[in-house]
Order: sequence, then C-alpha cells, then structure tokens
Amino acid sequence: MTKKISIVGAGLVGSLLAIYLRKRGYEVTLYERRPDMRKVKIPAGRSINLALSDRGWKGLQGVGVDNAIREIGIAMTHRTMHSVDGKITTQPYGKDGQGIYAVSRGILNCTLLDIAEQSGAKVFFNERCTNINLANNEMSFENSETHSHTKATSDLIFGADGAFAASRLQMQLSTDKFNYSQSYLEHGYKELMFVAKPDGSHQLDKNSLHIWPRGGYMLIALPNLDGTFTVTMFFPLKGNPSFESLKPKLDVNKFFNEIFPDAVPLLHDLEEDFFMNPTGSLVTVKCTPWSFNNKIVLIGDAAHAIVPFYGQGMNCGFEDCTVLNDLLNKHKDNWEQVIPEYERMRKPAADAIGELAVANFIEMRDLVGKPEFFIAQKIEGWFYEKHPDKWIPLYTMVTFTNIPYNEAQEKGKMQDAIMNEIMQMSDIENKWNDIAVENKILTLLKQQSPNKNGL
Ligand SMILES: Cc1cc2nc3c(=O)[nH]c(=O)nc-3n(C[C@H](O)[C@H](O)[C@H](O)COP(=O)(O)OP(=O)(O)OC[C@H]3O[C@@H](n4cnc5c(N)ncnc54)[C@H](O)[C@@H]3O)c2cc1C
Repeated sequence: MTKKISIVGAGLVGSLLAIYLRKRGYEVTLYERRPDMRKVKIPAGRSINLALSDRGWKGLQGVGVDNAIREIGIAMTHRTMHSVDGKITTQPYGKDGQGIYAVSRGILNCTLLDIAEQSGAKVFFNERCTNINLANNEMSFENSETHSHTKATSDLIFGADGAFAASRLQMQLSTDKFNYSQSYLEHGYKELMFVAKPDGSHQLDKNSLHIWPRGGYMLIALPNLDGTFTVTMFFPLKGNPSFESLKPKLDVNKFFNEIFPDAVPLLHDLEEDFFMNPTGSLVTVKCTPWSFNNKIVLIGDAAHAIVPFYGQGMNCGFEDCTVLNDLLNKHKDNWEQVIPEYERMRKPAADAIGELAVANFIEMRDLVGKPEFFIAQKIEGWFYEKHPDKWIPLYTMVTFTNIPYNEAQEKGKMQDAIMNEIMQMSDIENKWNDIAVENKILTLLKQQSPNKNGL
C-alpha cells in the first residue's frame, strides 16, 4: 500500500502537491535542491511575477489558500498595447471585469511551503537529487552545503523538479522507449523593471498587462504590489537586432529610445539591468510516458515545460494537482488506476497548451498591434455575448474555464477557420456587428459541426 510519498522539487507545483497529499493522509517528504527561499534572497532577473488564472485558482482553492493569495495579487482585467508612436489601445481579457492576477512567484512559493510544512510535510533543502534507482525506488541526494551523499526510498516518487528535471532524465536513461523532445525558441528573455512613483504608486495602469508588440519581439510588463512593474523583454538571441547584437551600452539606449520610447522614462536602470540580468531561454519539453511502474510519476514542468506566452505553465501544473486529486477521489486512492488515467488525461492537455503557447507568441508580439486582430476580437466578444452556448473565444477557454486544453485547442481551430471567412466579408470593419455577420457565423458553425449544437 502507498503510504510514503516523496516529491523531488519544492517549487510551485511540488509544494502544492505536497499539501494535497498531506490532506489525504500520506507521509510526504519534499527534497529541494535550493536553499530555503523563505530565508534567502531570490536572485534578480528570473520571472519574479506570474499571471495566475482560473485553473491555477482552482488548484489553490482545493487546499484553501486562494484567498490568502488573492490578497497579494493584482487583478489585470485588460491588456494595454503601446505602439511606437505612443498610441495606447486596450482590450478586455474577458467579460464583466474577468481578469488574470499578477502574483509574486516568491511569495506564492513561500506561502505554499509554509502551508505544506504546517500540514505535516517534511521539507529538506539543499538536497539535489542525483539519481533515482527505478528498480527499488531509491533516490540519491547530494547536499550542496556539506557535500554529503544520502539515499532515501519511498513507496511513490513524484518528479516535480522543473523543466530540466533529474527525475525525468533517470526515466529516460533507465527505461526502454522513453520519448523525449525539447525545442528552444530562437528568442530568449530578460527581466527589466519599471520603478514606482515617489509616493509608491504605479507609473502605468496597474490593472492591466502592458504589451509593446513590435513584430519580431516585444516587451511586456506585469504590476507588483510595491508600485514597480516587472518588465520582460522577449527578443531574438542572435541576429540583428538581438541580445547578441545590442552589446555596447550606446546601442541599447538608442534602440530603446527608438523602439520603446514611452517605456524608457519608466525604467529602473536600463544599462545595468540589461547587462547584469541573465538572458533566459524558452523551451518546450514533451515526453512520454510520464510514469514508471506506477511508482515514479512526473508532474508540472518536469512532465511538460512550455513557453510563457499564454501565462499557463504554472496554471497547468496546478491543474495537474487538481486532476490527480479528483482521480484519487474517484478511485479511492488506488494508485494503480489513478496514475494511468492521470497520464491519459493530462498528456494531450499538456501537449495542446504547449502548442498554443508557442502560437500565442506570434499573436502577442505581432497580431495584437494590428487593426484586423482588434476587429476579429470585437466580433468574437460580441458574438460570445449573444451566444455563449455556441462560441467561447479561445483565450477565454484557456484562461477562464476548465475545459481541457486539448478540447479548447480543437474548438479554437474551428472558430479560427470561421473567423477567417468572416474577416473576408466586405466592409467588415464598419459592419462587424451587423445581423449578416451573426447569421453567417451561425451558418458556418452549423456546417462545421452538423451534429452538435455549438460548443
Ligand atoms: C519568463 C517566464 C514567465 C512565466 N510566466 C508564467 C505565468 O505568467 N503564468 C504561469 O502559469 N506560468 C508562467 N511561467 C511558467 C512557470 O514558471 C512554470 O510553469 C512553473 O514554475 C512550473 O512549476 P514547477 O514546480 O513544475 O517547476 P519549477 O518552478 O521549476 O520548480 C522546480 C523545483 O525543483 C527544484 N529542483 C530542480 N532540480 C532538482 C533536483 N535535481 N533535486 C531537487 N530539486 C530540484 C528547483 O530548484 C525548483 O525549486 C513562466 C515561466 C517563465 C520562464
């Protein structure tokens, strides 16, 4: 019988999973490579804040921490686009003030760790997992302070050790027919910062996610509680312009003044941040199987790292936890049934959000700045308002519902095809809410899914 569960990695997903499992009465031990983040300062320049949306909220709600986190979050109800000539356009994210929340990664992780410990989970820090013996579920660790080596066994091991998971590597090295792919974007990212006003308030609308779409690249900014914004620059790693080409300080200042002029006066210290903060890479990881003998299971980024353009990596990992918990309820904690079903449900969902996230990069850096995108969005919003049973915009399905990502992706493709036809209608920019548009969408929906009544 499964009693002792170990989790490798006490990041966002590992910590939340520990709370779920403790609530079910398991003995839970977390092993984390890094020092206790509640006691040390997190290095600057690594995704300081995250967008939390419905799937993530559901995960937090399941263990009763949603209200505590909401207090430290800032609702972003719309996106604001900043063009080169200083023109500002806004688009709501959803209906009736629906929003995504900017939350601090550090505070969120520390809160989850606190609750995991309070609920009885043991957490060992500075313990890097170096090996897992799949034959006997024995984990090996190296302590980063003492350099001592220890071993531990467990009935069940979760690999929640992120995109470059050691647990996944062990499965890859020690099993036959393990499928694995990693694909890097040609873009990387760097974090910069907008300072607060002298009175501590925000320099831009804080209830918005700000975007500077520039075709091949972009800046985005998410608000922090202290009046600052974390700014992320998504930019080519090589070529011209790129992180590689903008080496001299002069080039960086000139580039920003030309391309992001309204952002420049808000920035903390462009030169210092640009040259001192690390350049991160953007990877999509897919693998299968996610488990071995129902004794070792991957979860979160370890199973499915995705690029951040849908703001869904953590949300997806939190959804892994809720789905797993639901399956434990359904199968009365029979892990032999739970693990295969978890994998069957989550693998297609994770593949879908991985693909959607890459596609959304193009939308964010390019399309959101284009008038036709704006019109298509208006039509979608208007039609959705009138026929919520027949059409839900893809962004809404991903962000504000729990529709499995793979179903959302399929419906999104069908809706895209319809919208492409609608955008060909004459004078669509002026007649976007005409009865003819409504009727044409209804007809096309019937043709696309003759046996189904919309969604
Ligand atoms: C720039 C950027 C912006 C993002 N924005 C968003 C967003 O807005 N919304 C969103 O939902 N997601 C976002 N994400 C994705 C999100 O950060 C990840 O999906 C999320 O952190 C995954 O959580 P995790 O616990 O699975 O992995 P991680 O957060 O990576 O945690 C893994 C943990 O395992 C530990 N570990 C690693 N190796 C070992 C080992 N060998 N032994 C022991 N411990 C180990 C690590 O130290 C870490 O603590 C973003 C990602 C990036 C890069």
